[in-house]
Amino acid sequence: MVATTQRDGTTWFECEHCGLLFDDEDDARTHEDTCDAEDPSYIQ
Ligand SMILES: [Zn+2]
Repeated sequence: MVATTQRDGTTWFECEHCGLLFDDEDDARTHEDTCDAEDPSYIQ
């Protein structure tokens, strides 16, 4: 689930897994689908 954040009058879309910010919601969702930080406990 992409989180939205307001900064300097602009809406940013944040990956809830790793915290990366995107200015485009589609980019953020695409990133989340492949985010390496999706399940940190599994990486360990
Ligand atoms: Zn991410």
